[in-house]
Amino acid sequence: MDTQVEYPLCLNGPDIPMVQFRNVSKRYGGLTVLHGLDLDISEGEMVSIIGPSGSGKTTVLRVLMTLETIDDGVIYIDGKPLTHMTRDNRLVPANQQHLRHMRKDIGMCFQHFNLFPHMTALENCMEGPVYSLGMNKKEARERALELLDMVGVADKRDQHPSRLSGGQQQRVAIARALAMRPKVMLFDEVTSALDPEVIGEVTNVIRRLVSDHKLTMLMVTHQMGFARDISDRICFFYDGKIEEQGTASDVFENPQRERTRQFLSAVN
Ligand code: ADP
Repeated sequence: MDTQVEYPLCLNGPDIPMVQFRNVSKRYGGLTVLHGLDLDISEGEMVSIIGPSGSGKTTVLRVLMTLETIDDGVIYIDGKPLTHMTRDNRLVPANQQHLRHMRKDIGMCFQHFNLFPHMTALENCMEGPVYSLGMNKKEARERALELLDMVGVADKRDQHPSRLSGGQQQRVAIARALAMRPKVMLFDEVTSALDPEVIGEVTNVIRRLVSDHKLTMLMVTHQMGFARDISDRICFFYDGKIEEQGTASDVFENPQRERTRQFLSAVN
């Protein structure tokens, strides 16, 4: 069904957020997973989503990655509607071509790396730029080598994923996502599948992205200490809504809502 409500065709102005959810709802059959979500993320901001299992955290990332459609509302990336396109001066649900085009602005790293198993680390990082962005191979190779070096696995460039540790695979996955020069990076539980001793390898790479590169990032994590250290803002999700949000010290040290307090005392 075409969207009839009064959402703008695009967002203009000097301070538009890099990501904006406006009244976004998502249902699976009879189950409403996101309830009219409003969420703005500014350019260069690092936002972490925390909350109980089933509260809709991963769904937020999946709709941003266009892996799922939404049922109501609009999502804008850098002012352009991600989930919709214009027709007759109105917004209508996006077709596959629009989604493919918009998806290039978004990089995602998953819990289970999802590297291409038949390609080396270097080839994994060149594939998207060459085949999706049309970059020439020489330039894509140079960029891929730079990124593999940045995440500390340049010496593994000719190895296939099966020859790499979990921490190394996740770092290659981060380099692969960055190779597409996304406007927004999404991290979904990127340390959950890792052995405890290699978690630091991956969190240190993300810390560097925050401190040196000022990328716009949205992260779902169960690692409260990590979220507290690196996030500009923490959003506590409960039942498909933002129950409470604020700086790390607001949310962790002075939570205002009972549900936030209960969650934090259960996980700490
Ligand atoms: P979280 O990441 O906070 O654990 P999710 O976003 O994964 O939560 O899921 C929110 C709710 O949506 C859960 O109740 C989950 O069971 C349900 N859900 C997620 N994906 C699907 C799906 N593909 N089909 C049906 N229900 C789903």
